[in-house]
Amino acid sequence: MNKLGMNARELRLCLEFVAETVIGEESRLTSLDSAIGDGDHGITMRIGFEAIKRKFASLDEKADLERVFDHAGKSFMGATGGAIGVLLGSMLTASGKALSGSAEMGAAEFKRVLEAMELSLIKLGKAKPGDKTILDAVHAACEAVTDPAIQDLQTMLIRAATAAAEGAQKTSGMLCAKGRASRLGERVLGHPDPGAVSFSIILEAMAKWLASHAVTQ
Ligand code: ADP
Ligand code: MG
Repeated sequence: MNKLGMNARELRLCLEFVAETVIGEESRLTSLDSAIGDGDHGITMRIGFEAIKRKFASLDEKADLERVFDHAGKSFMGATGGAIGVLLGSMLTASGKALSGSAEMGAAEFKRVLEAMELSLIKLGKAKPGDKTILDAVHAACEAVTDPAIQDLQTMLIRAATAAAEGAQKTSGMLCAKGRASRLGERVLGHPDPGAVSFSIILEAMAKWLASHAVTQ
């Protein structure tokens, strides 16, 4: 049976699972960034998600969806440097704002979360789709969830995660217009963007967590 929504406690558990998954991918993410950047991406992602885990360990049980995302974003941003620290940190706090007043994150709320992530990313990073950045995965996920036939969070997360992975893979064929790798010209061809791969790992882990947990509604 499909799970219809996630409450704040479940979102927190889900993000803890995401944290474990991202931390486990450190060496893959770092080697992707070694190919076209400065090789710190896996380390930065690990440090950011370790900070999220630490924050969640002391988080008030009553924290709502907005506060769970807000704390995640602020912890990530506070612990990390590099481009991704500010960009992903802001995407997470923007997700919190998108859920202000919501007690459950169902399909409609998750669509709002993805849209808020894309908007905050574009506002701060000023990238466009096709620039070979994390935006290529985020944008693909946003496009995938516009199908009105998708009515439940589980289907939506699977569709978004699949689209983000495809979006990340497509960055291999792109020249880079933003961030460190933009200085490398054609040398970046054949390598996916590390930030885009990270975003697809995050959505895949969310989908996996949801698939293995019971319904609340
Ligand atoms: P840094 O580039 O500072 O070493 P990271 O290696 O942690 O930071 O992250 C690099 C990732 O950040 C890139 O793979 C790309 O996805 C993302 N990125 C960098 N600059 C931008 C930007 N202006 N807009 C969107 N994403 C960006
Ligand atoms: Mg880097």
